[in-house]
Amino acid sequence: MDFDWPETALELKAEAAGWLAGVLPPGWGGTGTVEDLSAWMVEWRAKLAEGRWLGLSWPEEYGGRGLGEIEAVAVVEEFARHGVPWMGSNDPFSIGMLGNTILHLGTEPQKRHFLPRILSGVDLWCQGYSEPEAGSDLAGVRTRAELDGDEWVINGQKVWTSAGHLANWIFLVARTDPGLPKHRGLTFLLCPMDQSGVEVRPIRMMSGESEFNEVFFTDARTRRDHVIGEVNGGWRVAMALLGYERGTDAAVLPLQFRRELDRLVAAARELGALEDPLVRLRLIEAHERVEIMRLLGYSQLTKFAKGHAPGPDAAITKLWWSEHHRLVTELAMDILGLSSLVAEGRRPSSAFRTDDPGAPHSTASWQTVFLNARAGTIYAGTSEIQRNIIGEMILGLPKEPPPA
Ligand SMILES: Cc1cc2nc3c(=O)[nH]c(=O)nc-3n(C[C@H](O)[C@H](O)[C@H](O)COP(=O)(O)OP(=O)(O)OC[C@H]3O[C@@H](n4cnc5c(N)ncnc54)[C@H](O)[C@@H]3O)c2cc1C
Repeated sequence: MDFDWPETALELKAEAAGWLAGVLPPGWGGTGTVEDLSAWMVEWRAKLAEGRWLGLSWPEEYGGRGLGEIEAVAVVEEFARHGVPWMGSNDPFSIGMLGNTILHLGTEPQKRHFLPRILSGVDLWCQGYSEPEAGSDLAGVRTRAELDGDEWVINGQKVWTSAGHLANWIFLVARTDPGLPKHRGLTFLLCPMDQSGVEVRPIRMMSGESEFNEVFFTDARTRRDHVIGEVNGGWRVAMALLGYERGTDAAVLPLQFRRELDRLVAAARELGALEDPLVRLRLIEAHERVEIMRLLGYSQLTKFAKGHAPGPDAAITKLWWSEHHRLVTELAMDILGLSSLVAEGRRPSSAFRTDDPGAPHSTASWQTVFLNARAGTIYAGTSEIQRNIIGEMILGLPKEPPPA
C-alpha cells in the first residue's frame, strides 16, 4: 500500500488549489454556506467545464486532459478538501458511468459525438437499469425494444431513476430477444428523453425530497445505432459500467465521512452529550470505522494506480461505508434526543450521502441524512448482495441456495 501521491499528482493538486483560490470568494466556507445551491451548481458546472476540470483522464481529442487515473483522483480529492463539488448533479451518470463506458466500449463515432457533449453539459444522463420486477436481479428486466426500420421502439417502465427529472438522455438495459436466456437477449441502449414517448414521474422520498423517478416508455424511439456493444450483448456492457468511478469514491468518501464525524463530535460537545459514556464509546467506534475506511481507500487507490480494474473487493468498501453511515446517523439522532424528531433549520441540498461541507448544525440536517443513510445500503447493490459477492467471489464460499 502506498500512502504518498506521486510527484505528478502533487503538481496537479497544486494547480487545482491555485485555480480554486482564483474562483472561490475569500473566506469560502463550503457549499453548505450557499443560499441558493441549485443556481450556484449550474454556474459552478459551467466553470468546471470552462476550466477543463471534467473528464480529466479522457483523451484530449474527446475534450479531456489525458491525465493518468491517479492524477485525476488527486484533483478530485483537492476539490473535496476545498468543500466544492468536482462535477454537476447528473455527472456521476454522465461522466462517471456512461462516459467511461463509451470511452472503453463505444465506437469511434459514438466517442466523437457523445463525449464532448457530456463534458460541455449539453447532454445530461440518467441510469435506467432498475424496474419494478428487476433490481438485485437486473437480468429480469422486462422493458422491450424492437427494431422498426432504422429505429428501436421501446416500451416498459424503469424505476428509482436518480436525477431523471434533470436529464435529457437515459441509458437503459432493454430486452431485445425474449427467446434467449435472461442474461442474453438484453441490449444497452441510449435514448433521448425529450420526446412524447418518455414520461418521467417523480417519487417522493421519506426525507421529503424527490431525487428519483419512475420513467415510462410508450413507443419511445431511438436510433438503431444508439447501442453500446453488441445487440443482445448488453449484459456485459451493463456490468462494465458498474465497475467505473470506484477510484474517486476511494479517495473522497473517507474525507466526507471524517468531516461529518467531526461535525457530530462538535454537536455532542455543544449538547453536553459527551458526558454519556455510551455516546463516547459509539463515537470512538465511528472514529475507528472512518479510519478503516481511509485504509480501505488507500488500498483501492494503490491497486487503481497499478492499473488493476475494480474487482469484487469494491464490495467491501461499499458495504463498509454504507453500514457505517446508518450507524453514525443513528447515533446523531440519539445525541440530538427528542429534538431530532422536529426538523428545523437548513436541510441538506441533496439526498446523497452526507450534508454539504460547511453546512450549519441543524436538526433538519441530521434528520435528513439519517433518513437518506437508509438508501445507501440499497442503491448500487444492497448490503445482502455485497455480502454475497464477498462470500462467493472473495472467500470462495458456496453459492447462496436459491429460495425454496
Ligand atoms: C436512493 C436510490 C437511488 C437509486 N438510483 C437508481 C438509478 O439511478 N437507476 C437505477 O436503475 N436504479 C436505481 N436505484 C435502484 C437500486 O439499484 C435497487 O433498489 C437495488 O438494486 C435493489 O433492488 P430492489 O429495490 O428491486 O430490491 P430487491 O432486489 O427486490 O431486494 C429486496 C430485498 O431482497 C434482498 N435480496 C435480493 N436478492 C438477494 C439475494 N440474491 N441474496 C440475498 N438477499 C437478496 C435485497 O438485499 C433486499 O433486502 C436506486 C435506489 C435507491 C434507494
